[in-house]
Amino acid sequence: MRKIVIAGNWKMNKTPAEARELAGAIAANDKIGCEVVICTPFVDLFAAKEAIAGSKVHLGAQNVHWAESGAFTGEISAAMLKEVGVEYVIVGHSERRQYFGETDETVNARTKAALAKGLKVILCVGESLEQRQKGVTADVITSQIRSDLAGLTAQEMKDVVIAYEPVWAIGTGLTATKEQAQEVCALIRSLLKDLFGAETAADTTIQYGGSMNAGNAADLLSMPDIDGGLIGGASLKPADFAAIIAAGSAK
Ligand code: PEP
Repeated sequence: MRKIVIAGNWKMNKTPAEARELAGAIAANDKIGCEVVICTPFVDLFAAKEAIAGSKVHLGAQNVHWAESGAFTGEISAAMLKEVGVEYVIVGHSERRQYFGETDETVNARTKAALAKGLKVILCVGESLEQRQKGVTADVITSQIRSDLAGLTAQEMKDVVIAYEPVWAIGTGLTATKEQAQEVCALIRSLLKDLFGAETAADTTIQYGGSMNAGNAADLLSMPDIDGGLIGGASLKPADFAAIIAAGSAK
């Protein structure tokens, strides 16, 4: 059966010293009953790794480049992340797509490079508010899933988690209703079935992300096709993140 994965996306928050403290507080939780990941800024990875050593918390990064090495100023390769002890990497976050020119093509290339080096990928897809209001959410998600996962095998999909993140719900305090989130997560699962077969579709973890918090996590996670969460703001607050982990552990 598929894993429940609760992942924190710290975005551009916390210095290394602050990261050590926050990661330590998250790792001190002795009631973790699901997969928990913290995706820190690159410079915080070492400190976070030390702080979570021996705990049930896994280490993640927020982006990865598709090339092995070379003249790509400011970028980080999969091999670099792997050597630091990173297990998961977020790819295609809407903030990368909105502000840094990420396209489905580059998302696909980054995903393949990460998988080739043995990293697990948290692949983000989601529609904008305008797209939802126009009624084209299903078309947008279908196109993103088909393009972002193009050329992957069912075997590689074992290391892919999909995060459905409606752009209008990220960092806005607006949350998709559990029915809205379930509808799109079920669509994603049916697309995975078409692309990779029933077994892969049943086994792939599909998260919801977008203002998930201590108060709404259990409700969202009660839906059959929501297998976890990608959490921004609330993942920076240990007590709130612990409540979300508790909801994930109870599923
Ligand atoms: C995110 O960054 O992926 C996210 C879902 O952020 P927030 O929880 O703050 O909406």
